[in-house]
Amino acid sequence: MNIVIGREEGTDQPRLCLIIDSGNSNGVKTAFIGAPGSVNKKVSRKHCSMEVDSSTRAILSLTDITENNFMYINGRECKSKKGIKTTDTVELGPEKYLLDMDAVLKACLGAPTVSISGLGKIYDKYQKDVMEMQVKQGKMNAFSSLPMVFSMGSGILAMAVEEARIIGVALALLFMIGFAVLRFRWATEIPKKKRALEDKFHNEYVCPSCGQFLGSVRPDELAKKTNCPYCKAKWKS
Ligand SMILES: [Zn+2]
Repeated sequence: MNIVIGREEGTDQPRLCLIIDSGNSNGVKTAFIGAPGSVNKKVSRKHCSMEVDSSTRAILSLTDITENNFMYINGRECKSKKGIKTTDTVELGPEKYLLDMDAVLKACLGAPTVSISGLGKIYDKYQKDVMEMQVKQGKMNAFSSLPMVFSMGSGILAMAVEEARIIGVALALLFMIGFAVLRFRWATEIPKKKRALEDKFHNEYVCPSCGQFLGSVRPDELAKKTNCPYCKAKWKS
């Protein structure tokens, strides 16, 4: 499939124009991307030509077809390049119009199909980790009554047995200090771990196509959906 990319003609509020030649009986069609006026006048009407493998969605090559306008790939001026990734930065013209290659592929080939089979596991792991964290916190709360018990025990011992007085007081103090240190460590560690869990979940429980966090959708609901609610990519389980 060949796509000629440039500025829309016949308007002073141009969008990006794609002339798509599918190379089969479907012939040539035209599509537009972006809001009116989103493309600056320094982008040529036919600026660059993109070869795409329509089955794999791979961008095979990108060629600047202007006489003396510019194309930049990852910040460098470039006339032609093979094997472009959608994560590469492609800019057109001296004002560096940023080409959204995902949007180009979507306009030419429709929404991609992506597998969401790994998301259930990520969700379950997160739920399990949160549960473990809560159990740990529960244990910590139970432990927090212990220093009082130990101190009182030592105090009673000190009163009952004359010889043990100094040892008893020392033990009581030691227990109290020891537990205070432990509690402080738990109190600072748990929020940190909680935060790390949340961050991990936020980074991993996402649409494989657009990367949007899907926290509001549970795995059983995901399985019922056929498309990403954000990017409309087709989901297969
Ligand atoms: Zn998506």
